[in-house]
Amino acid sequence: MKYILGIDVGGTNIKVGIADYKFKLYKFFSLPVEEFSNPSRAISRILILLDELNKYNFFALGFGLPGLINYRKGYIHYLVNLKGWKNVYWRKILEKETGIRTFLDNDVNLAALGEYFLGAGKGSKNMLMVTLGTGVGGGLILNGKIYRGSTYSAGEIGHFPLKASGSRCSCGGVACLESYIGNKKLMRIINTRSFYIKSQLLSRIKRKKGKLTLEDITLAGRKGDTLAIEFWEDVAHKLGQILTGVVNLLDVDRIIIGGGVANAGQLLFVPLRKFIKKRVMKLQGRDVKISKAGLREKAGVLGACILAYHGLKGRQI
Ligand SMILES: [Zn+2]
Repeated sequence: MKYILGIDVGGTNIKVGIADYKFKLYKFFSLPVEEFSNPSRAISRILILLDELNKYNFFALGFGLPGLINYRKGYIHYLVNLKGWKNVYWRKILEKETGIRTFLDNDVNLAALGEYFLGAGKGSKNMLMVTLGTGVGGGLILNGKIYRGSTYSAGEIGHFPLKASGSRCSCGGVACLESYIGNKKLMRIINTRSFYIKSQLLSRIKRKKGKLTLEDITLAGRKGDTLAIEFWEDVAHKLGQILTGVVNLLDVDRIIIGGGVANAGQLLFVPLRKFIKKRVMKLQGRDVKISKAGLREKAGVLGACILAYHGLKGRQI
């Protein structure tokens, strides 16, 4: 049997999966992200991994990486959070070390690809995947293929400016969506006294636990706490503003939302759907579906396997 090794490098851990050519997962596990702190450490770890897994016959390696990737050249410009990875010809190095064909792309592009083939994107033709976490990531599938843009860096929905002026973002831009609804910002808001003081329930939890989490806000919202409900409405409206523009611009038929912040569930999705339906152009918005991601933490690994499979066949996806 032929297998593909899929590796999805995230901010806190690395997910590894073994799939066959039908994308059935045989193994799925995590490694600490420190093991990939720089390319030479990563190579040693991959060689050990291949040795440990030598009962599988790997025909390809697929990598999802959090950063700017030139998919065609197999080249990494840089990775977010992993400083040892600048200007690396990863495919060339890895193919030389392992003798196995290697394919790589941006992690959110591959999560989108995974969802498109196997998850909440099944049956869609044009879709956007949004990941809501520490960062706000985006991956586009247009006409059944990843849309990478002119410099292979398209899809940066988190860096869509929400206003004409505002705080400077790490990307160099100003007032980016991510600086309004990224995890860090949301955590700062909910732990600000002027915020939680408006709710007796949240003030009580804050006093008891010392720190409020987004899950606390979600649980409070489910109990009917007005402040919590309004908090998620506000997040939904900011995200909805950008997504309305995306639907009008690209006429996508589906938007899939994943990442930890999406666990707010209906508190986020109901006002988000309502906002988009109300604001979007009629024809483009008629059938657009806003769904929660279906593959959870496996989307990136499966996407990496799908990319590698099509790469082996000489197809660009
Ligand atoms: Zn930005």
